Amino acid sequence: MGDWFQTIVDVEAGAEDADRLAARVRDWLISVEVVLAERTDCVLGAEVGHPPGPAAGQALEDPSSDDGWQGLWSNGLDITVGRRVFDAGQGEVEAVTCPHCMGAIRLIDDGWELIDEAWAPFREVLTDWPEGYDGVIACPSCDQPVEPTAWRWADDYFVLGHLGFTFWNWPPLKQDFVAEVGWRLGGHRTVLLAGKL
Ligand SMILES: [Zn+2]
Repeated sequence: MGDWFQTIVDVEAGAEDADRLAARVRDWLISVEVVLAERTDCVLGAEVGHPPGPAAGQALEDPSSDDGWQGLWSNGLDITVGRRVFDAGQGEVEAVTCPHCMGAIRLIDDGWELIDEAWAPFREVLTDWPEGYDGVIACPSCDQPVEPTAWRWADDYFVLGHLGFTFWNWPPLKQDFVAEVGWRLGGHRTVLLAGKL
């Protein structure tokens, strides 16, 4: 059985404000008891995270939803600060769209295999990003330069950002909750990424 996750990624936070915004949202989530302050070993990909609090249901689409998720070992919130490529975990990315010409670049063939030639420049962009480099490449369709964070990945398969809130094994998060997180991030645009490991 895999672990399912939902990540709210702030796609507008930069290196300079990610820490401050992370603290602001963390303090709010603790004050409304959606998560607990004391961190424990309850997340994947980090040593410790925040376990769900008594009001965790307020963050959920169905507040009474109880499929036993709170009894799972990984049931916490992991807040990541720093350049990172957030991804959906399983499967392949189908296509990427240029923000200028809206041209879609297909990345897999009919057999669901990555098309190496099409994929190569993007692989580089995604590898460079967490290392601290902005790999600006020209769109294969319109030839205009595209910032690494500007590419639109099909199904939000990849999201590049400096700040993410990952909820491990929580039932679907409520839209209002996700919107409020965005509001507390200073009205930043967020992307909700869901996936499985
Ligand atoms: Zn283009």
